[in-house]
Amino acid sequence: MDAAIAMQKETVPKSAPASDLKQVFRNAQRAFDLIQKHRTPPDPKTYAVWYAYVEAVDPRVIERVDSAVAEHGTLTPFDINSIFRELLTEEPAAVSARHTIGMAIEKEIDEVMKIIQQGVQNSDEFGASLDKANSALPKAVSADNLASLLSNLMEDNQRMAQTTRELNQGLMESQKQIATLNQELEEVQTQCMRDPLTAIANRRAFDERLEREVRAAAETGEKLCFALADIDHFKAVNDTYGHQVGDAVLQQFAAVVTQNIKGQDMVARYGGEEFAIILPETDLFSAYNLLVKIKYNFKSSETPIDGTLKTIKDVTASFGLVRFEPGMTPRDMIEQADHFLYEAKNAGRDRVKAKGF
Ligand code: GH3
Ligand code: MG
Ligand code: MG
Repeated sequence: MDAAIAMQKETVPKSAPASDLKQVFRNAQRAFDLIQKHRTPPDPKTYAVWYAYVEAVDPRVIERVDSAVAEHGTLTPFDINSIFRELLTEEPAAVSARHTIGMAIEKEIDEVMKIIQQGVQNSDEFGASLDKANSALPKAVSADNLASLLSNLMEDNQRMAQTTRELNQGLMESQKQIATLNQELEEVQTQCMRDPLTAIANRRAFDERLEREVRAAAETGEKLCFALADIDHFKAVNDTYGHQVGDAVLQQFAAVVTQNIKGQDMVARYGGEEFAIILPETDLFSAYNLLVKIKYNFKSSETPIDGTLKTIKDVTASFGLVRFEPGMTPRDMIEQADHFLYEAKNAGRDRVKAKGF
């Protein structure tokens, strides 16, 4: 995976302005023209070097490319590698920018592929028709220069078709590579939003989601509920059974909530042994009932103790529940849920607290 990410960095022109895709496309077209003109391999690294060259943001790239071309007549693999390594692998841009640019490159390659495929077809057809013309020419009129002209033409044409096919092959490889890299990048982005212990959403994913849901509820007037849950006396679980068992209890809680919510609902690990539950399009009464059910299911579930036949039972959790009201911010919702959670703890734990409940 790391290697793949590194490759992605390498593939992407480092300072292309993600916002100006048209310019990216224009530069990409010129970079491809240069790949063809200098007969350099059409792979992502070469592409990145030519792209940086036409982009002309870094004068060092221009100077290095120009002097390599002056010296060798083209860019050798050594030139490409060293220019790339020395000048094009600085700090990566933001992940989203990389993604956007990656997509732009992919789209560009798609376009070029179409043109080239058309080119191969045309060349093949052209070759076939010349072939036919050649064999059909009456021997009587095959003046030497006409025959040699035709044969030269055919040779040229075949060479052209071959070059185009090679280029096409290289581009297909690049396209495959870029598609894989994009996919891996997406996986990395998904992983960035997940809590590794419980495999549910993490705080970052939660923050984004609550923000979105509050905005949607404010715009549409839809109902929205939100709860904070905290495992009771969790420190005692750790102290009695060890941290690993504590971890298993956290996983158990995440699993119980996940099994009991559905659709657009979300459970996230908010921190240590605290969880956040977002319930869009849910009224306070239904949300309360759902949390009571979750509370009960968790309490009556058993967490196996690794390496033994024993399980832990009767661990409980407390819940603070809040309903969205017009004008509330995500922060307001969290503060109010926290307030009710505190009330639930004070009232003896193992309960759900909300306004009016
Ligand atoms: P209360 O009922 O008031 O919530 O008491 P508590 O013991 O649950 O709360 P407290 O805040 O005193 O302790 C929380 C403990 O959770 C302390 C911390 O070590 C533990 N903890 C936080 N994150 C993890 C984790 O990822 N794994 C494990 N095993 N323990 C964790
Ligand atoms: Mg806590
Ligand atoms: Mg606790």
